[in-house]
Amino acid sequence: MLLPDFVLLRPRTVDEAITLVDEDHLPIVGGTELLLVMKLGMARPEGLVDLSRIGALSTISVDGGELVIGAAATHARISTHPKVRAGWPLLADVARTVGNARVRAQGTIGGNLCFAEPKSDLATVLLALRARLVLHGPAGRRAMTIDDFLLGPYTTARDDSELLTQVRVPVLANVRTTYRKTQTMERPTVGVAVVARASGVTVVVGALGAIPVRTDFESVAAVDVDAVVERLEPIPDQAGSVEYKRHLAGVQVRRALEAVA
Ligand SMILES: Cc1cc2nc3c(=O)[nH]c(=O)nc-3n(C[C@H](O)[C@H](O)[C@H](O)COP(=O)(O)OP(=O)(O)OC[C@H]3O[C@@H](n4cnc5c(N)ncnc54)[C@H](O)[C@@H]3O)c2cc1C
Repeated sequence: MLLPDFVLLRPRTVDEAITLVDEDHLPIVGGTELLLVMKLGMARPEGLVDLSRIGALSTISVDGGELVIGAAATHARISTHPKVRAGWPLLADVARTVGNARVRAQGTIGGNLCFAEPKSDLATVLLALRARLVLHGPAGRRAMTIDDFLLGPYTTARDDSELLTQVRVPVLANVRTTYRKTQTMERPTVGVAVVARASGVTVVVGALGAIPVRTDFESVAAVDVDAVVERLEPIPDQAGSVEYKRHLAGVQVRRALEAVA
């Protein structure tokens, strides 16, 4: 598999990058997804806009209690960062299980969300953590919930001329969290995130359907596993049938609830 010809553009700032990105000039950071689809002939951009030299896109900080992750931060960096480990251990733990060492070293949180491959661990966890995303484009900056960002398989609310710049995760105080997954062939077959707050419990099931599905309950005791599973629309593939994936989801939701109970 050979890569088609393309022009490589290497901006140093977000503002510069925004002038370069469009439907024929795609952002790239780790290239773990994009280079593969280009080799398969499924994408033929005229140019790639390499975001890896924009320092501001890789920073991880805490702002007013909120975790702020630059979109170009790698899974490896997120999994080992002291602030993430201290305040958002669920996210650090999940980032540590993504794919394999190469994918964790090269792949980024922004690339994961923008590619919107359904078999994502991060989308599931970030939905449960109520993350907000910040995008920059020619018209300025806009923020949206991850619920509004993820529209379907390989489809997001991002405009071709926009960059995802930040992933912002609210403070996690007095909550119990867990993530359970079944992994097949390096990607999750089903992933279940449960976040139990004083105000209620969020159950998100991802990786088996088009986008992760979130269901909220008043308490752990009130969680209706059958109702959660009923809402799922698994996509059958090499990792399993619709029935198998539904069964697996039920098992993992029950295990996750035991973990936070
Ligand atoms: C073998 C393998 C195993 C994997 N296993 C898992 C797993 O277990 N769990 C999991 O969650 N994920 C898994 N993944 C997915 C992995 O997380 C993503 O491949 C990675 O995070 C993508 O980041 P990247 O920087 O390499 O993206 P790239 O390939 O560089 O880009 C991907 C897409 O996002 C766009 N893009 C990238 N950054 C931005 C930005 N800042 N703004 C706008 N658009 C942008 C690009 O234009 C492209 O369309 C796996 C991938 C592989 C190849």
